[in-house]
Amino acid sequence: MQFEYTSQQRDNQHLYRQFAQQEVAPLARQIDETEQFPRELICKMADLGFLGALVPEEHGGQPLDLLSFGLLNEELGNACSSTRSLITVHSMVTFALKRWGRQAQQEKWLPLLARGEKIGAFALSEPNIGSNAGYIETTAVPHADVLVVNGRKKWITFGQIADLFLLFARQDGQPVALLVEKETPGLTVHPIHGMIGTKGAMLAELVLDNCPIPAQNILAGVGFGIMAVAMSALDIGRYSVAWGSVGIGQASLEASLAYTQAREQFGQPISKFQLIQQMVTNMVTHVKAARLLCLQAGYALENQQPSATNDILIAKYFASKTAMEVATDAVQIHGANGCSSDYPVQRFLRDAKVMEIIEGSHQMQQIMIAKNAYLA
Ligand SMILES: Cc1cc2nc3c(=O)[nH]c(=O)nc-3n(C[C@H](O)[C@H](O)[C@H](O)COP(=O)(O)OP(=O)(O)OC[C@H]3O[C@@H](n4cnc5c(N)ncnc54)[C@H](O)[C@@H]3O)c2cc1C
Repeated sequence: MQFEYTSQQRDNQHLYRQFAQQEVAPLARQIDETEQFPRELICKMADLGFLGALVPEEHGGQPLDLLSFGLLNEELGNACSSTRSLITVHSMVTFALKRWGRQAQQEKWLPLLARGEKIGAFALSEPNIGSNAGYIETTAVPHADVLVVNGRKKWITFGQIADLFLLFARQDGQPVALLVEKETPGLTVHPIHGMIGTKGAMLAELVLDNCPIPAQNILAGVGFGIMAVAMSALDIGRYSVAWGSVGIGQASLEASLAYTQAREQFGQPISKFQLIQQMVTNMVTHVKAARLLCLQAGYALENQQPSATNDILIAKYFASKTAMEVATDAVQIHGANGCSSDYPVQRFLRDAKVMEIIEGSHQMQQIMIAKNAYLA
């Protein structure tokens, strides 16, 4: 495995960092406090090709290699986790369409999604169903030439503004993957507010009341839905969240380095205290280790290695745990200022907690990693 970025990847990283720090970071507090995501920021990211990062050129995308895609997620995650989460769910939908969609579905949706004219969201979780995703309760019943869908989907990131939902339902007891358009009769979207973190991710609950889904919107029919489509989309989602978690860790570290040199107690900068240095050492070490696991997972994914799914699980598990620990120490280092919204570390800590729950909770990842270890 090669640990050097190519010159193209370095250029990409420079571009993403510049964009994230100049265009995203200054908006992060406002996005967090208002729980609203600016449409102009979506347009800017679309112009730079970020929304078509996993879309082939022939469908209007500006495809990235998967390490560059990771670097994009790190830099956006460093600046604003809500912004990174848009790239996560939107890319899960474009990836699933590219991987599993029929030609007509790809031709219809991928150019619109790549240009940001349509926003995609991933709708698996339900009020009663989270970790045990194989037991979703939403039903799809064939009637004439449509599937009639009934049920509820909860915690849907960017559900408030999404135009196209990659939605999972149960037909004859088997999962199916459907493309559900916002305008579908019987679909209502209810905003969710007051989350602990990624507060600008415009979550929604979807209520599906006799929604007719035409045959051309079936992405994967009976039996294929969860295993094939959801799991491969979740690989991308977890990979994105893993890198976003590295971004939170790096941002927490950078904020702590600056603060400890500026803040004086007992007549000297607090950076001089060895107990502070110990926290900084842990931050540096763990963030670096998390990034290396993400790089390895990206390499495995790019090269379609059989270990890719497990490497992604490990990267997401470790990186989200690291983000939580590092952000906690960053708040500690900032003292009372760290508890105030005047400093970004408070937001980093709240966002880091979400990373340990989304795309498979910490505990579910531990179970899967251990299971794979025994199988190996
Ligand atoms: C900010 C945010 C955004 C989200 N966005 C989306 C989205 O876009 N699309 C979507 O479909 N979903 C989304 N989700 C939902 C997310 O995927 C679920 O929250 C997650 O899968 C966990 O499910 P749950 O919350 O129902 O917890 P539960 O499954 O009810 O679990 C509760 C607790 O029990 C633990 N637990 C469960 N089973 C076991 C077990 N077998 N052994 C040990 N411990 C166990 C869990 O780890 C957790 O700690 C989002 C959630 C959040 C917070």
